[in-house]
Amino acid sequence: MSPVEPNHIYQYSLVNALMAGVSESGITTTQLLTKGNLGLGTFVRMDGELLLLDDKVYQLQSHGKIREAAAHDQIPYAVCTQFVPEHTLSVNLAHKDAVDRVLQDVNPDAENLFMAYRITGTFSHARCRTVKGQEYAGQPLAELGQSQFVAEYKDVEGTVVGFRSPRAWQGFFVAGEHLHFISDDRTFGGHVLELTAEQEVKFEVATVADVHIELPRTKTFNAAKMETDDMGLKSVEG
Ligand SMILES: [Zn+2]
Repeated sequence: MSPVEPNHIYQYSLVNALMAGVSESGITTTQLLTKGNLGLGTFVRMDGELLLLDDKVYQLQSHGKIREAAAHDQIPYAVCTQFVPEHTLSVNLAHKDAVDRVLQDVNPDAENLFMAYRITGTFSHARCRTVKGQEYAGQPLAELGQSQFVAEYKDVEGTVVGFRSPRAWQGFFVAGEHLHFISDDRTFGGHVLELTAEQEVKFEVATVADVHIELPRTKTFNAAKMETDDMGLKSVEG
């Protein structure tokens, strides 16, 4: 592991590139693991959701299955950090929006900064989706959102990895909350659509003011017509 600064964000590519369907190649699992210990993203052809936790990269596949990513698997989009919690709280979460309120309480002066967090415990309800993967090269993410696999889980033990990005960064990142879930037994998970924790869960947070973005140098990336589709992004990544 190279010496990465704690609580800096490293991101590869842009959400707008995924929206434009650019996902045929990227950095490898091994490379991503040198950039941090907590993260999320996707795989080549947007085949499922990525979750980086405890120095392992997981592929949350459609139908809720999970595999550990191979060293040479390519990652066309990921955001991660070398997470060192600055605050640890015990909280209930009435719904997914409650996450935002917790972050607001922890740091009311971070509206235009990033926040990284990890939530562990028993979740009374989690609604997760996994993208099924492109049916043809260049298929835009917004189109994939229409055929995603969605599952409901009750009373599940697991971990949520999340990032909050400022509104003005929509399209570079996912503006607002972006959360992925994995079960403790590593058998299911996905991109979190809804979340409730009736019992208290452990909520660890860090504020991020340093962001490094690496852009793909590929022809496909440079040929893509990228623009920020706020409505489309909210419908697929909300
Ligand atoms: Zn996601």
